[in-house]
Amino acid sequence: MWGAVLACERCGQKNWYAVDDLADQLKCERCLGHTRFPAQNPKARLQWAYRVNGPFSVPDHCNGAYVGLAAMRFLAGNHNEDATCVPSINITEKNGGSLEVDFLMWVRERRYWLREEVYLIAGECKTYAHFEPRDVRRMQVIARKFPGVVLVFATFRDKLDPQEKRSIQRLAQWERGLRPPEGWRAPIIILTAKELFSFDGAPQCWSDDSTLKDKVERFDHGKTIEATADLTQQLYLGMSPYQDWAHEEMKRRLVRGRSRRGGQ
Ligand SMILES: [Zn+2]
Repeated sequence: MWGAVLACERCGQKNWYAVDDLADQLKCERCLGHTRFPAQNPKARLQWAYRVNGPFSVPDHCNGAYVGLAAMRFLAGNHNEDATCVPSINITEKNGGSLEVDFLMWVRERRYWLREEVYLIAGECKTYAHFEPRDVRRMQVIARKFPGVVLVFATFRDKLDPQEKRSIQRLAQWERGLRPPEGWRAPIIILTAKELFSFDGAPQCWSDDSTLKDKVERFDHGKTIEATADLTQQLYLGMSPYQDWAHEEMKRRLVRGRSRRGGQ
């Protein structure tokens, strides 16, 4: 809906008015007093503004639904892949406990024409709030219960703060350490405004950033989920590319093995 935002003369709080409702005297929904339309200098106090309508006007960004929907759209390759989505789900454990997940989805990714891979993805979403250590721990429990599950942290913010970066990085390092040489255990993907507001999805969402040119060139189009995990871990967790890390890790293990044998 189209309208205008105007600060109240009495309380200073901003109100939104539909164009049809604009009048000489306007009621303030905050202090319930009246404020005058700034006829003399409208530009100084009045701003034209749209307001969401209908189901989109549910408070708290539609109870956090937008970020989950945007993440599911991105992960389903902008509707190019077959996907089954379950938003906001409680997984009941055998011992009676329950695990809350913001979304679960199955995505069937077509690879190299004939091959396909099906992924189970679990998402933790924060519109603008922060990922708390307990959110990260819950995701780790999910990774233990569903080996191979892809863990997604999705937010509309531009980046993670140092504390959430540290705790998600620890989880990603745990996952890398457990990963068998031939595959992934629980790939961790971080999605921010850059990915979620992108129209084209991966890897085009990073293409306009020249500093990411090398990373985008290494992006494996045939394995979008794993490649997205690898790239977003570099971008938002400051981790090295998985292949480089694996190479270094192999060397470290060899050195450790040698020194152990040498000590005997
Ligand atoms: Zn007021």
